[in-house]
Amino acid sequence: MLNVHVFESGFTFLLADLRFQCSKWGNPADPVQILDFFQSIVEMESGRDLFDKMKHRFLSFKSHKYIANSEHYQALSKGQAPKFMVIACADSRVCPSNILGFEPGEAFTVRNVANLVPTFESGPSETNAALEFAVNSLEVRNILIVGHSCCGGIRALMSMQDDADSSFIRSWVIVGKKAKLSTKATASNLDFDRQCTHCEKESINNSLLNLLTYPWIEERLKKGLLSLHGGYYDFVDCTFEKWTLDYKGSITDGNNRVIVKDRSFWC
Ligand SMILES: [Zn+2]
Repeated sequence: MLNVHVFESGFTFLLADLRFQCSKWGNPADPVQILDFFQSIVEMESGRDLFDKMKHRFLSFKSHKYIANSEHYQALSKGQAPKFMVIACADSRVCPSNILGFEPGEAFTVRNVANLVPTFESGPSETNAALEFAVNSLEVRNILIVGHSCCGGIRALMSMQDDADSSFIRSWVIVGKKAKLSTKATASNLDFDRQCTHCEKESINNSLLNLLTYPWIEERLKKGLLSLHGGYYDFVDCTFEKWTLDYKGSITDGNNRVIVKDRSFWC
């Protein structure tokens, strides 16, 4: 009965609102304006649906995960000691907790456009602020950079003309310029889509090299307290490629390139 009452109240309110709008539009009211009015009501209702679903998901999380694992969550309220720092793309399709199953407290995560890491010399950004906290305060043992297929940020990097615009996106993705130049030099025979795929992986390695420019990261690498890893999530085929930077090999190689160990392919 309550629902019927709510529906009737809502409908009465809707008619009153429509009547008020019609008085403003004149007589006879424009049918297009009436349709626009109903469209706005539908959009408003669908917005409510989105948050109703979100509320349902939150309450489901609370009962099935939070309350069911209350000891774990109580411990987390006192502090965090994540095993990983993860740097992933902001793309809505590639949430690392979702695809790699990180539980709360397990991965300190920063997400940015195209999962890029600027060099130490390039100055402050939210990415290296997060790095500093994860490495120096949380003392994470692993940094994992996760790239992915069909990355719009890498496509923007590959498409942009030098100095063609001053957008925020260009100013950010230029961080991966070395990966773009390397891709153009070694994969120019490929079509553009495949060049982008090549660059998606190349830029992960470029970011791994950029991590080596941070003195406090290199110090922990030398002591064996930190490992750097690359990961590539192909969401078209649902595969994941993982590799680890061979720090000593990369340093002694002397060619400013990533030497890889422990490469594996999950499919
Ligand atoms: Zn992306």
